[in-house]
Amino acid sequence: MKRALICGAGGFIGGHLCQRLKDEGYWVRGVDIKKHEYREPAVDDFVLGDLRDRAVCRRIVSDIQFDELYQLAADMGGAGYVFTGEHDAVVMHNSATINLNMAEEARKTGIGRVFFSSSACIYPASMQLDPNNPGLTESDAYPAAPDSEYGWEKLFSERMYLAHHRNFGLEVRIARFHNTFGPYSTWEGGREKAPAAICRKVAETPDGGEIEIWGDGQQTRTFLYIDECLEGARRLMESNFLGPVNIGSEEMISINDLARMAMDIAGKTLTIRHVPGPTGVRGRSSDNSLIQEKLGWHPAASLAEGMRTTYEWVAQEVEKRKQHI
Ligand code: NAD
Repeated sequence: MKRALICGAGGFIGGHLCQRLKDEGYWVRGVDIKKHEYREPAVDDFVLGDLRDRAVCRRIVSDIQFDELYQLAADMGGAGYVFTGEHDAVVMHNSATINLNMAEEARKTGIGRVFFSSSACIYPASMQLDPNNPGLTESDAYPAAPDSEYGWEKLFSERMYLAHHRNFGLEVRIARFHNTFGPYSTWEGGREKAPAAICRKVAETPDGGEIEIWGDGQQTRTFLYIDECLEGARRLMESNFLGPVNIGSEEMISINDLARMAMDIAGKTLTIRHVPGPTGVRGRSSDNSLIQEKLGWHPAASLAEGMRTTYEWVAQEVEKRKQHI
């Protein structure tokens, strides 16, 4: 039986990954500074601990020889957290500390393979000024000019894991996740991403009402459904390809159209009111040529299918909250 350690198991992608690895027959230890807000992670062992603390990192790898480490823990959130500038120092400090600690522990204990979740936020802002962005390819990362400190930290950590590979032979696999969404993700409170935030606004608003969208809503993005993301990540981990490689969708949509898609799913007609707010870059899409070539992977399901499942889950959460008030 293979043994996996998932750092960030109390989070959105980590929670889903625990389930996926359990379904594949792994023994799984999850670690997070908090419990999962929306589900019990499917793990054999869950450690509540702060990965900025070196002693915690040492302890979680000391009693078991892990075959695989998935390092997903990061101080992150949606545009409302990452792009305002208020959290820059803590985002950089917290995430870099976690990555430095875990790279060192993985090296010292000889963990078989390490997966690191980087982000599309590493790509230069100057390449994302056009809403019809043709898709970011991996080589676009340099010369580097990410639009957030969150992106700079990811770029630093990519390089740090690759340096551990070159200097110490640590087996690393690096994915640049683009926006990923699905059920069991943050849907309120300021750290939620656009799909969950839009689902919440639509679910909360009675038919004929109005929802707010940050900016003019013409900024474009692609959104990858969680099951697709995990399939890409697992294929990368099983392969001999180190990356960095994009794991994202190429199905571009404007934020206004994403809101309309959620309204269609909900069967509601709502007016969109545009309000000032942090919007990030103007247009971002993934170019999946490299992952298609190396791993034969591309997303199988459409955005609309994933949005339907996500809307149903968010609408249930909104309903549950109403009943508790
Ligand atoms: P998430 O915020 O739901 O999960 C991250 C988890 O890390 C959280 O549960 C958090 O509590 C944990 N964590 C933070 N600081 C910690 C600490 N000091 N000690 C222990 N745990 C700590 O985010 P997610 O959406 O599941 O993302 C997982 C990874 O994928 C992150 O590294 C993120 O940067 C990356 N990523 C995600 C997306 C996306 O669209 N979801 C896109 C690009 C990259």
